[in-house]
Amino acid sequence: MLIENASNILKKISHAAMRAGRSPDEVKLIAVTKTVGIETIKEAIDAGLRVFGENRVQEAQKKISDLKFEISNSNIEWHLIGHLQKNKAKYAVQLFDLIHTVDSVELAEELNKQAGKIGKIQRVLVQVKLSEEETKHGISKDELTLLLEGINKLKNLKVEGLMTMPPFFEDPEKARPYFKRLREIRDNINSSRITHYALRELSMGMSNDFEVAIEEGATMVRIGTAIFGERK
Ligand SMILES: *Cc1c(COP(=O)(O)O)cnc(C)c1O
Repeated sequence: MLIENASNILKKISHAAMRAGRSPDEVKLIAVTKTVGIETIKEAIDAGLRVFGENRVQEAQKKISDLKFEISNSNIEWHLIGHLQKNKAKYAVQLFDLIHTVDSVELAEELNKQAGKIGKIQRVLVQVKLSEEETKHGISKDELTLLLEGINKLKNLKVEGLMTMPPFFEDPEKARPYFKRLREIRDNINSSRITHYALRELSMGMSNDFEVAIEEGATMVRIGTAIFGERK
């Protein structure tokens, strides 16, 4: 079941990339394991998946340490895809290879401080909010330049790109303008040289709309339900 779902998704990722004239290697599949137990995560590892996304620090902490105990596979990556509170930054830098959800200078500074303490360069993405929904986190497009300039000064953070989460639409085509918008914002940042180096990553697209996101330039898709089934 899981293995079929995973290979099905990988096929769709390849096709979507090729439709857009891109190489399938440019798109990384992040298997979203929130609420998924470690037995199932082990199955996913057996099925060849290597990059996992969690949205809560505490939940991830338990799973990551339980799994470390059982498997020695060091090429597994853990990504934080959910909102991060400043008081959890210390744990987040210990656990995650990439944090997708930096959305304030205060959080960036705290992550920088905590990463410094353990001698790590923490890779991060900045979460951009492109809709007016109250419930969504992320920084507005207008504040983005200031945040990136702030992060530039932080020696222990490396910003690699942008992440967004459009409103949910039944019809994935309706999400397309949001994905296109995020790509344009990234390209503008790169051409105006706001950061020290070009931003590459665009973390966008979930189970319902990842193919559209890839057509619009996604380099990371975050997929839970389509791999693991409906969450309980
Ligand atoms: C849960 C979650 C996903 C995965 O959603 P699915 O619809 O199950 O694929 C992706 N991104 C974030 C930020 C999430 O919280």
